[in-house]
Amino acid sequence: MSDTLLGLEYLDTSFYIIFYTIIFVFGICIGSFLNVVICRLPKGESLIKNSSHCVSCGEKIKSYDLIPLFSWIFLRGRCRSCKAKISARYPAVELLNALIYIITFMVMDFNVKSIILCIFFSVLIVIGFIDFDTLEIDLRLLAAITILAVLSAIFTDSLTILQRIAGGLLISVPFFLIGEISAEIIQKNTGERIRGIELGDTLLMASSGLLIGNKAIVISAFFGIITAAIGGLIQKKLNGESKFAFGPYLSIGLFIGTLWGNQLVDWWLNMFI
Ligand SMILES: [Zn+2]
Repeated sequence: MSDTLLGLEYLDTSFYIIFYTIIFVFGICIGSFLNVVICRLPKGESLIKNSSHCVSCGEKIKSYDLIPLFSWIFLRGRCRSCKAKISARYPAVELLNALIYIITFMVMDFNVKSIILCIFFSVLIVIGFIDFDTLEIDLRLLAAITILAVLSAIFTDSLTILQRIAGGLLISVPFFLIGEISAEIIQKNTGERIRGIELGDTLLMASSGLLIGNKAIVISAFFGIITAAIGGLIQKKLNGESKFAFGPYLSIGLFIGTLWGNQLVDWWLNMFI
């Protein structure tokens, strides 16, 4: 028996439409909170106190202009009082979070595991954007993923403890070694000690591996590295900067690896048997 809470296969289309509409609305609301976290966490500001202000004119944003996604569309991406442009990133994060929730429930069905993974993906969105902005991964966000791994181990039975431990080590150990070796080489050549792979990225793969297990973490690293290679080249072309955040790409890889990693590994292994 699966750990499905509702026998979704017995329910009709109208149920699905209502179900996914609720998930969408819930997803953009959580996405709106993620925007607050992305803005305030790196500055050490409170996540719950203080209302939102326009970054240009400082005017307090009215409650009816705080409807996720739709307010930005109605105001055509401009502040109501000073008409300054509001970054398209805000609605993009809200929409991204909602779409990720819908995809997760479609792929994983409605169960405890899907709920834990939705929270995981929301944390990854925050990690990806903060790393993009600041080149740092906040340890509190990695702690949150570790807590999700513990909850997952208690409330779901999809992975054994051994698979989780292997998941935690399989990518993080090579990442750590590459980081150490690259730092040695760079120090010899330039005198500066810069790691090729930062400790934050290493710990991201360690904590995520505990949550998603050995197969999914390998696929995640594979897609993370490929997207980073492409993204890094594009970023270098655009701004000539060779140092870029690895976290956003690892987050993309983790999304793919978590939802489809196990099937991809099984499919790959079956080709040789
Ligand atoms: Zn304004």
